[in-house]
Amino acid sequence: MTKADAAKLPLMLMTLRLPAISRLWQDLGERADREGWGAARFLAALCEHEILERSSRRIARHMDEAHLPDGKSFANFDFAAVPGIRKAHLMALAEGDAWIEGGANILLFGPSGVGKTHLAAAIGAALVESGRRVLFSRTTDMVQKLQAARRDLILPATLTKLDRYDALILDDLGYVRKDQAETSVLFELIAERYERRSLIVTCNQPFSEWNQIFPDPAMTVAAIDRIVHHATIIECNTESYRRRTATKNQDTENTTTKI
Ligand code: ADP
Ligand code: MG
Repeated sequence: MTKADAAKLPLMLMTLRLPAISRLWQDLGERADREGWGAARFLAALCEHEILERSSRRIARHMDEAHLPDGKSFANFDFAAVPGIRKAHLMALAEGDAWIEGGANILLFGPSGVGKTHLAAAIGAALVESGRRVLFSRTTDMVQKLQAARRDLILPATLTKLDRYDALILDDLGYVRKDQAETSVLFELIAERYERRSLIVTCNQPFSEWNQIFPDPAMTVAAIDRIVHHATIIECNTESYRRRTATKNQDTENTTTKI
């Protein structure tokens, strides 16, 4: 290779947007010369680095856009605290694959403080790590966003844009109230994604109380039908983790004081 070629390389690699190759070609080139690699091996090694970096940049970007709450992973979830939930089952779901390909859903039910949001976020993070795109939002925020879109006559386009996410996490669906605002946009979202794109929903009310969410009984039935048709339902029926840890801390403090 001539000096002129080498001088042109940085600009060419930048034009082609190959930052990893741009950074590595000299060192790797020297190693290739030293170890007598052929041209194909050298080129393959460079491409491999570029592909790996591209993939980790993509994952970092998708993690950012997912707006997941910080620090909620499987690693710091105490599975023993929630009887009836199997870690292996959750981990298998988090790998995505079949259910997410078919646009199936995950529903997490249970009272406040039992770890529904934590689990939904952990599943979301694992999905992003495995190359999926996820968006976490409070259901009330999503409803507001969709209502604004409807006012601006761009609801269909907004729903289509949400298609880019393999899974939408709707946290606290039960906090949406039909008298709070018109929640039929929520129904439209559910209907739009049905059998195509997944929803991960947390809710502290059983289905029997969903008539408080949707404007009329027919819509409630239709929403429940679509959401449960292909769904894994996870019931977190245990005592609030928040309350339990608070009590435990208090006990420890009390013991400490006694000592
Ligand atoms: P929910 O959404 O069911 O109301 P959260 O997921 O917000 O409950 O949990 C409340 C708090 O307790 C969070 O800080 C969460 O990280 C923590 N938490 C809940 N369950 C567990 C658990 N089993 N292991 C570890 N932390 C937990
Ligand atoms: Mg929650």
